Amino acid sequence: MIDYLLQNKKLSVRVAIGIVIITVLSILWTNVIRTPAYLVIVDGKKAFVVKHKSDVEEALLSLQEQQAEQIKSKLELGNQIDYRRTFASRGDVISGDELEKALRKTVNFKMLAGALIVDGKTIAYLESKAEAEKLLKKLKEEYTAVDEGEKLISVDFAEKVAVAEKSVNSAKVMSFDEAYQLITTGTDKPEKYIVKEGDNLWLIARRNDMYVDDIMRANKLTSENLQIGDELILVKSQPYINVVAKVEGEKIETIPFETKTEISSSASGVRIKQEGRNGEKKIVYVATKVNGVIEEREVKEETILKEAVTRILVKGNQVTVASRGGGGGTLDWPAYGPITCYYGRGHTGLDIGAKAGSAIKAADSGTVTFAGWQGGYGNFIIVNHGNGLITRYAHCASISVSKGQQVARGQVLGTVGSTGRSTGPHLHFEVLSGGSFQNPLNYLR
Ligand SMILES: [Zn+2]
Repeated sequence: MIDYLLQNKKLSVRVAIGIVIITVLSILWTNVIRTPAYLVIVDGKKAFVVKHKSDVEEALLSLQEQQAEQIKSKLELGNQIDYRRTFASRGDVISGDELEKALRKTVNFKMLAGALIVDGKTIAYLESKAEAEKLLKKLKEEYTAVDEGEKLISVDFAEKVAVAEKSVNSAKVMSFDEAYQLITTGTDKPEKYIVKEGDNLWLIARRNDMYVDDIMRANKLTSENLQIGDELILVKSQPYINVVAKVEGEKIETIPFETKTEISSSASGVRIKQEGRNGEKKIVYVATKVNGVIEEREVKEETILKEAVTRILVKGNQVTVASRGGGGGTLDWPAYGPITCYYGRGHTGLDIGAKAGSAIKAADSGTVTFAGWQGGYGNFIIVNHGNGLITRYAHCASISVSKGQQVARGQVLGTVGSTGRSTGPHLHFEVLSGGSFQNPLNYLR
C-alpha cells in the first residue's frame, strides 16, 4: 500500500515536471525563440509585425473593398508602407482580424474627390467633381422657382463658389444628401457679444432673433443676471451658400383701408359712420430673392384697380373707449388653434397650436418690415402697424408677402409650419409696443 502511494507520488511529480517543462518551452517558443517575420513600417513609423508580406496585402485589399462598397471612386492607399526583415517572438506577430484592426488605425485611403470651395475655403468633399457641380446646379434650381406672373432675370451665388478636384482621405467624403444638408442649413456660427450697460437677456435675444433659453444654454448660464463686460456667445445658423435670384413680376395686391376718427361733442361712445373697404392694385416690380425669399422689392408701376374706402368712426369727446392692458383688444387672432404656450417667463410670444399649412393672417393692417429666414425663428414675418405697435410671426412654413408691402387686417401672410427652432407646427406670435414685448393676450380681441 505504501509502495503504491510512493509510486503514485512519483508519478504526480513526473506529471508536474512535465507540465512545467511544456509551459517553459511554450513561453520560450512564443516569446524568446524568435521566428523570421516582417516589421511593417507605415509612413516611416514602426507599426506592427507580420509573418508574411502577403498578410498585409490581403488585409489592405479587404479594407479597401469594405470602403469601396460605400464609395464608387477609385481608392488609393494614402500611406507609404515599407517592410523590414526581422526576427520576432511569435506572440508579437499579428494576423487576420487583429491585423485588419491595426491597419484601420494606421492607414487611410485617398481618393480624387470634388471639393466645394466657398470664398476660398473648402466646405465639403463629394465623390467627384461632377457630383459637386450637380449640387450647385440643384441649389440654383431649388431657389429659382418663380411665383405666378414672375420671370427670372438672373441667378447667382452671393459667395464666390468654386469646384476643384482634390486628393483627400476617403473618410472625409460626404454623400450628396449630407453635403446638401450641410450647405443649406450651414453650421451654427458662433458670434461673440460683450454685454453693455442697459442690456438684458431679453434685449439681446430680441436684437439677434434668438431665444433666451438658447443663449442661456449656449453659454451655460444658470441665471439671467448679466454683468457689463460679460462675454456671450451667440449662435446663429447660416447657410454656406446663398442663391441670389433677380425676378421681374406683376401681381394684384390689396390696398388696406385707413381709419379716420372724427370727434363730435354730440355723439356718445364710438359709432361707425362709414364702413372701410380694401382696395386693389396691380403692381409691376423687380425683386431680389435670397434662397427663394424676397429680400428687396422695387415697384416699377402701380395701377389702382379699386380704390380703398376709408373707415370713418365718430367718437364722442366725453367718452374714453374701454381698453384692456394698454393694448385695447385691437388685434385679430393671426391663426386659430389651442394656446400651447403662454407669454412670459422668457417666452416672448404666444404659441398657437394651429395646423401645419393653415393660414397666418395679419393681426392688423400695416407694413411688412421683414419677411425671410431668421435663425431660430425660421421663416419669420414682421408687420409694423404704426404708433409703435409691431407684430411678429415665427416658424412659418411659407411666406406670401415681402418686405415693404402694405397688408390689410386679415390678409394672409403665410402658412403655419415648424421652421427654425421648433418642435412641431405652431405659430409663435409676438406683440411689441414701443420696442418691448407685450402679452399678446392683452391685445387680441
Ligand atoms: Zn413660442
